[in-house]
Amino acid sequence: MGFSLTFHLSYRVRILFLFTVCLMVVGWATSNYFVDALQEIPKTKNFRAYFNKAAVFEEEATPTTQALINNADLKNCPSMSPHLKGQSKLVFKPDLTLEEVQAENPKVHQGRYQPEECKALQRVAILIPHRNREKHLMYLLEHLHPFLQRQQIDYGIYVIHQAGSKKFNRAKLMNVGYLEALKEENWDCFIFHDVDLVPEHDYNLYRCEDQPKHLVVGRNSTGYRLRYKGYFGGVTALTREQFFKVNGFSNNYWGWGGEDDDLRLRVELQRMKILRPVPEVGKYTMIFHTRDRGNEVNIGRMKLLHQVSRVWKTDGLTSCSYKLLSLEHYPLYINITVDFWTDP
Ligand code: BGC
Repeated sequence: MGFSLTFHLSYRVRILFLFTVCLMVVGWATSNYFVDALQEIPKTKNFRAYFNKAAVFEEEATPTTQALINNADLKNCPSMSPHLKGQSKLVFKPDLTLEEVQAENPKVHQGRYQPEECKALQRVAILIPHRNREKHLMYLLEHLHPFLQRQQIDYGIYVIHQAGSKKFNRAKLMNVGYLEALKEENWDCFIFHDVDLVPEHDYNLYRCEDQPKHLVVGRNSTGYRLRYKGYFGGVTALTREQFFKVNGFSNNYWGWGGEDDDLRLRVELQRMKILRPVPEVGKYTMIFHTRDRGNEVNIGRMKLLHQVSRVWKTDGLTSCSYKLLSLEHYPLYINITVDFWTDP
């Protein structure tokens, strides 16, 4: 009995001892592992930064890659840029030339710009449909470049030009701009911009929000009042995902009118809300012009608007056919020229 008790005790002590030793060994091994792992994180980070730099340096030289190198260690830009001026008095000089606009914007390369002092919060593509409005385009570029730079935006301006003599199709040109711009950069945000509207107040931020945004609350020609409740024309901002979700614009609006109302219906069908800046900020000057030939009022637009909920899934980005005639990088913008062969 005495023997068996001693045996049991010493057996238990031995088991306890073995168990404690095991615990110590495991503890020592894992503590080593965690210390190593913690030390590895900065190493990995440095390595990645080093690797990224090395990878970029290898192909070097283009303005974009150089900007990426410079950009790598920058802090994020603040949500309100310190360069904003507020309301500007816009002047449109009759004898302005594109060369002058170019000379005034030395930091724009091939239609693109990135702030040097901080990392922009979004990459923004400005899409401007165009035909026969060279003068308007020049005035818009003259004001838009410094305006966007004051907002510390990483941006590219795309002018999408409709060739041929078919009726103008603003909406389809926007779809083309979106599809083509995404082939050269994964833009976060798209600003769909009329060529004849110039923003007056630089607190009107050209970036996207968590809901689609309508930037033109008022324009000089309408006493700076919203044209009607639900108006969604002129200048709008949608993220890459928001625009994708609504299948872009309809391709079926030929001539003037309706396509912007159609986009609003698509946005509402997806239960998204439309945001607007306050009226003092959402102000634009419209450069006066008469109606262009080839852009007559589309009298069939009401009929099209009644079909939106039925056709939006099959009419839009997914069905946008076009012939790309050219895509050229000019100093102040990227010019895309398309022809719409297959349509009326
Ligand atoms: C048209 C829109 C246009 C609006 C304001 C509407 O009748 O359908 O396309 O933006 O008027 O001019």
